[in-house]
Amino acid sequence: MTVTVDASRCIACGMCAYAAPEIFRVVGQASTVIAQPGDRNRRVRDAANGCPVNAIHIKR
Ligand code: SF4
Repeated sequence: MTVTVDASRCIACGMCAYAAPEIFRVVGQASTVIAQPGDRNRRVRDAANGCPVNAIHIKR
C-alpha cells in the first residue's frame, strides 16, 4: 500500500502519529509520511479511518 497525507486538509491533531508513529509524524502544521507501510498495515488503515478530516489516502 502507498499512503499519502493531504496537507491542505490536515489539522495537525496528531492522531495518526499516535496510531502509527513509524509511518506518520506531525511537522509544523501538518502530518507527513516518514515511511511507507508494507502491505496490509492495519494500523495505517485505522489511522486513515480515524482522521477527523479524511486527509489520509491509501492506494493499494
Ligand atoms: S489524523 Fe488527520 S488531521 Fe490529524 S494529524 Fe493525522 S492527517 Fe492530520
